Amino acid sequence: MLVYHLPGTFETREDHLDLLWEAGATGLEERAGLIRAYFDEETELPDAIRDGEWRQEADQDWLAEFKANLRPVQAGRVTIVPPWLRAEIPATQVGLVIEPGMAFGTGHHATTRMAVEALSDLNLDGQTILDVGTGSGVLAIAGALLGAEYALGVDIDPITIPIAEENARDNAVPEGRTAFMVGTLGDDLPGDVVADGVFDVLVANLYAELHDLLVGAYVGHLRPGGPLILTGILTGKLPLVQGALDREGFTDVQVRTDGEWALVTARA
Ligand code: SAM
Repeated sequence: MLVYHLPGTFETREDHLDLLWEAGATGLEERAGLIRAYFDEETELPDAIRDGEWRQEADQDWLAEFKANLRPVQAGRVTIVPPWLRAEIPATQVGLVIEPGMAFGTGHHATTRMAVEALSDLNLDGQTILDVGTGSGVLAIAGALLGAEYALGVDIDPITIPIAEENARDNAVPEGRTAFMVGTLGDDLPGDVVADGVFDVLVANLYAELHDLLVGAYVGHLRPGGPLILTGILTGKLPLVQGALDREGFTDVQVRTDGEWALVTARA
């Protein structure tokens, strides 16, 4: 397996990631201060990314290794585990089982963990939640397990919907307490539970530029005073999101961070 080791992180070398893809990288990974770019063959690289080093590495079964290294993740009142670690959910915690697979959201990414923690800080009893960019459904399902009456997850990627539905079933979420649909804000949302499309809580793990674009739509889908939870934000991009929230009149803006990732909460 051929790997190009480029010093830096996805954040510090953001402008160079496209160059790696254009040069033929088949995958990028960030580990211990290095970007690891996987290639099928050694190739001429542009000057801006020549400060790295080509390495031939032994093939590894990444999936098996990834699965073997998974540990339970505690996020506030919730412990997230893959199915084979169910027994490790502490009796005092709300257990959330997510099968690692094709959809983002096993709980092991800082953004997912912080979002579940932020949901767990709220009293969700009887509340309705809109989860934008639901992926594995982890946030909508966490909301339902924490007492929400109804959590709707939407995602532009159709592959996520059956995965989220299966994860809801695996967690024995009662029928009708979660729903998942392909789409985004601006689409017609199913009106059987939340007729006016206005939810008590809105959570979105996307990215800063998209939050900036969608923040006006967040206002339209959140009851006055309702909590907004936004993550997927690199700390360097916080001013963009904070500026957008100010522009739309959100109040009580608070930030938490984990490494290079930030989560912002605010009130509509
Ligand atoms: N909610 C999960 C979590 O917190 O782990 C998954 C978050 S993942 C980072 C972002 C998800 O948002 C992806 O599944 C992606 O397909 C979806 N997405 C990207 N742009 C979107 C948009 N404009 N509207 C809805 N979903 C979007």
